[in-house]
Amino acid sequence: MILLKLHSTETRVLEDVYPSDGKVVRMYTCGPTVYNYAHIGNFRTYVFEDLLRRTVKFFGMKIQQVMNLTDVDDKTIKGAIEKRITLDEYTAPYKKAFFEDLQLLGIEPVEAYPQAVDYIPAMIELMQILVEKGVAYRGQDGSLYFSIRKFPSYGRLSHLHLDELKTGASERITDEYDKENAADFVLWKSYDPARDGQFFWESPFGPGRPGWHIECSAMAMKLLGPSIDIHAGGVDNIFPHHENEIAQSECCTSQRFARIWVHAEHLVVDQKKMSKSLGNFYTLGDLLKRGYSGRQVRLALLSTHYRSQLNFTFQGLDAAGSSLERLGDFIVRLQAVQGEKEHGRTKEILQEAEQKFTAALSDDLNISPALASLFDLVRAINTLIDERRIGQREADEVLQFLRRIDSVLGLLFTEETEEIPLELQELLAKRNEARADKNWPLADECRQLILEQGYVIEDSPNGSRLKKTAKS
Ligand code: AMP
Ligand code: ZN
Repeated sequence: MILLKLHSTETRVLEDVYPSDGKVVRMYTCGPTVYNYAHIGNFRTYVFEDLLRRTVKFFGMKIQQVMNLTDVDDKTIKGAIEKRITLDEYTAPYKKAFFEDLQLLGIEPVEAYPQAVDYIPAMIELMQILVEKGVAYRGQDGSLYFSIRKFPSYGRLSHLHLDELKTGASERITDEYDKENAADFVLWKSYDPARDGQFFWESPFGPGRPGWHIECSAMAMKLLGPSIDIHAGGVDNIFPHHENEIAQSECCTSQRFARIWVHAEHLVVDQKKMSKSLGNFYTLGDLLKRGYSGRQVRLALLSTHYRSQLNFTFQGLDAAGSSLERLGDFIVRLQAVQGEKEHGRTKEILQEAEQKFTAALSDDLNISPALASLFDLVRAINTLIDERRIGQREADEVLQFLRRIDSVLGLLFTEETEEIPLELQELLAKRNEARADKNWPLADECRQLILEQGYVIEDSPNGSRLKKTAKS
């Protein structure tokens, strides 16, 4: 049996994916900060995580995935204060847009989408343990900080040394005198009426709000347990966010927080990370307005290995569009194959394709050879169809195979290919029979009915097929 292997940021080697509780792979993925619309850089990471999720299932494992929504944060609070509305009112449209985009990108819903605002008691529980253990301290400003000196393996994920961190951090953070050590991070930010308006929560450490890092630790452990199988995010999360999650969580539980850490490289524009702050970003909505489809964006984001930077270009999107068209045509063509012909070797071709596809994915989600195996298959089967060497039964086998691999890719069976309604397929068969009987008026009538439903008939030496008209 082939095992799924992933490159761990922490150990820097390939690690086997398996459910450590013997039942279900538990995966935590850092979700969006809902202060604005997510851009397609963010979605590169979420599409990668979706590929991982689907691959885990393809390899026969169950998965329980959690993706948080960061709704308590400097930026969301600032936004709500500026607009004079509640935090819920401020974040609701961004949350809604996020879920709409996920759907358009063919990203499967995960098992839980916790919102930070609902987990503040769980965060406080963790902070109390950290205080009891002497790892957290109150700074001069009343905020609660984590002392990284108390966690000797701090830096093990990002492979940074404490000494480097101290210098690096103190250069960056010149105005934070409240902490004992410049690289210590905040667990609970004490309330500052000038900054926070009416937004604060009560806690044993006074009124205030949680820091971002403790939010993820609390939601991950509350929903998935103290020790999880996979923790994923974008590479910018490695330090300090994930390093800090490890420190807090492991200090609380004395258990390993996550067994495998995986990170997606950035989507870049002219070598620069796509980001809100640089203003070099596109939202999915921007691209839809330009006529691109969600699946096209999905394929463009998917087709570069997740550990390589992906340069965003419109040519890349166009290329993804052509590939999807080729695949869509192939499916429609397969659906139209008729007759009893048996080529005999189709099973073998499919087995070889599946073997290559599976082997590629097992190797740290190596998407390029996985997609290549699909296009090789398309070429081989198209030739058989051209030569009229396969019949309906084998065409169906190919379609079944495509459905199986599409459980991973999430690209092929869109409405366009899936939803050729049965009545239209029957109408096509009726029209073909009428033609065979030289009953031209009936054949024309059927064609007209099909046209009215937004489909055209394409005839070829191998039979006829239906295709959605461009305007429908
Ligand atoms: P944020 O909303 O900024 O917390 O980001 C949400 C997720 O998107 C995180 O996992 C980031 O690592 C990821 N991310 C942000 N920018 C990019 C980018 N340009 N390419 C890939 N992932 C990104
Ligand atoms: Zn996180």
